[in-house]
Amino acid sequence: MKFKIGFDGYSKEKEFPVDNRIVTEEKVPVKSLVQVRFPNRGRSLAYYNDKFDLHVGDLVFVDGKLEGERGIVTDVSYAFKIKLSDYKRVIAVADTTVNGELYFGGSHLVSFDRSIIPYDKIRGWFLPPADDEEYAVGSDDKGFLLEKLDEFEIQPQIADRGFDYYNHNKVVYLCLDGIHGKAIVEGSTPYELTFDYKNGEVSNLICDCFCSFHCKHEFALLLQLRETLKVIEKHYEDLYEQSDYFAAICKATLLNYAMNTDKSGSIVLG
Ligand SMILES: [Zn+2]
Repeated sequence: MKFKIGFDGYSKEKEFPVDNRIVTEEKVPVKSLVQVRFPNRGRSLAYYNDKFDLHVGDLVFVDGKLEGERGIVTDVSYAFKIKLSDYKRVIAVADTTVNGELYFGGSHLVSFDRSIIPYDKIRGWFLPPADDEEYAVGSDDKGFLLEKLDEFEIQPQIADRGFDYYNHNKVVYLCLDGIHGKAIVEGSTPYELTFDYKNGEVSNLICDCFCSFHCKHEFALLLQLRETLKVIEKHYEDLYEQSDYFAAICKATLLNYAMNTDKSGSIVLG
């Protein structure tokens, strides 16, 4: 079964010659004062924007007290005069366009094309741009078989919470490129996870909630990875073999973000 999906939420990039070169007009900033609603906080505040061309429905991140919170633009004004020191700014806008073919994969939709739902794009739906902080990463190289999750060293009550997360599709996204995997698990806030997977064995599993023990996010990811790989093995083995890549996104996440109000687009089921 195929699930084709095509969205065209933003105007196409315009090309025009400047100095005999072709430049891409993608992010021409238009100064504006925007009203931003933060669904997780139940608040709405005004922000100054001079970096982007913003529209109602855009998913943005801001600086100030609500830094790191996802916001939705609910109003855009172009005629205004404000004291700049009174306003915080919009610092990032997420690219929520998705164009291409996705396949049914249980609770998720799956792509075998690296360009359709790449990690960096989907990350921007959940998290502000990465900071410049330096991180030290250690790994113990202790692998374990995905088929033997009962041997995974995790406290039973944490495993139960992880199972709940998995059941409620909190593993909103995961991808595996060669042996290197990444995932986003939406707990109280979104967490980024990385792992390696080869010949049925998971290793170097790390979650940025920085628990010193195996956490519920990791366990949820393992359950989702197992489910998605089973579906792929059963229905799309050839596609996966060709690409050596898959990405899976929770259906509800795709509907909420890529199909929000202001967009045009189409779905072809087949
Ligand atoms: Zn975690």
